[in-house]
Amino acid sequence: MKVVLASGNHGKQAEFSALLANVGIELVMQSDLGVTAIEETGASFVENALLKARHAARATGLPALADDSGLCVDSLGGAPGIHSARYAGGHGDDAANIARLLDAMRDVTDPGRGAHFICVLALIRHPEDPLPILAEGRWSGSIVASPRGSGGFGYDPVFFDAVRGCTAAELDTAVKNMVSHRARALAVLHARWLQNNAP
Ligand code: IMP
Repeated sequence: MKVVLASGNHGKQAEFSALLANVGIELVMQSDLGVTAIEETGASFVENALLKARHAARATGLPALADDSGLCVDSLGGAPGIHSARYAGGHGDDAANIARLLDAMRDVTDPGRGAHFICVLALIRHPEDPLPILAEGRWSGSIVASPRGSGGFGYDPVFFDAVRGCTAAELDTAVKNMVSHRARALAVLHARWLQNNAP
């Protein structure tokens, strides 16, 4: 089954395709079908993921998969949350976003430095689908006082994974892709898809 991915990010297409190929889902990027991104006006990850999936399904007539992700810090009431990409103003300015986060947390001590990467996936079969398949993935860690590591993107240099004993930017990419919030959400989606399509 052909499914449009509501994203223009080739990295995500590769990551998602690898896991969904074995359930017969072939992902096509919306940007390859001439669909432009919709403004993310929702108040939560779920709302934004649904908004993006419905937009892609409407524009293409295909079933659609969308994701929304970000970093939620306990002591900041879940911020930057859905605003993670533009926390410091400009979209995707990773260094400025990290600087603002560390500044906001300069007086915070453990356990207030706890944080979670969140990914929500929404899969709809058609634009008016009343029963989307939703899946959430959560990767728990804490925010270190200064950046470490050169891998990954976004908040990876300040996100410390206590189980692996390093920041996400110090992790091997293959390992990050196995333990990340996106990988966890995909595994849940995969299981729900199989459940929903069981004979
Ligand atoms: P998006 O869902 O790809 O638009 O991600 C939203 C924002 O959340 C990104 O711009 C990053 O700032 C942050 N983010 C999401 N996933 C990750 C991750 O795996 N590592 C670091 N930052 C992330």
